[in-house]
Amino acid sequence: MSEKVKRNITCPKCGNIKENTLLCSVNASSLNDAHKQIFEDKFFEWTCEKCGETRQLLHPLLYNDIKRRTMVYYIPNVDRRQLVDDRLETEFSELSDVKKRVVPTVNALKEKLYIFDLGLNDMAVELTKLAVAELVAKSRKLHVTEGYLSAYDEEANTIGFEFFVGDTGKPFLQSTRIEVYKRSLEIVETYFANEDDRQGFLAIDRRWAREALAQYRKIK
Ligand SMILES: [Zn+2]
Repeated sequence: MSEKVKRNITCPKCGNIKENTLLCSVNASSLNDAHKQIFEDKFFEWTCEKCGETRQLLHPLLYNDIKRRTMVYYIPNVDRRQLVDDRLETEFSELSDVKKRVVPTVNALKEKLYIFDLGLNDMAVELTKLAVAELVAKSRKLHVTEGYLSAYDEEANTIGFEFFVGDTGKPFLQSTRIEVYKRSLEIVETYFANEDDRQGFLAIDRRWAREALAQYRKIK
């Protein structure tokens, strides 16, 4: 399933108007190019054929990976904890056992794809990331604005994150032992096993991790 829409795009530099075809949904197993393009920041890139101006033309994208039973819905700046799409739920009745996520940024989209490619659990990754972020904030006295999984190496026993810290959002790398992830996974499997039974696309992010951790501390 790959879905396209046609839209007239006006070049912000020269004013040239041209009809463009935007891919709104891609099927990972049939279109591996999309995966590569997303990671190379080429997927949303638009170039004016007249003056050569290039821009990131951000638009919603549903990334469907049938083999991994995951769907990631990128909606620029979306601010929803849960997104129920009736059309999709009807069209794909087998969707109920698919992990569905909604993300607001391209970085978050890349991270989800990376996590699922590694076969990791994104809830456990978020819990691990939160723990590591708190450590960075405390020990380095740095204000952590956002962070993403950047490395996972079983042999070296490390899971690494790239955080953006301070007012300028400077990148800061911090890793920890894989046990921290494994412990997070235990928590997820014990206390949040039914989380994915919720209908629709879920936002599994830092906010989710904070709320989940608070809930866990209350019930354990
Ligand atoms: Zn132009």
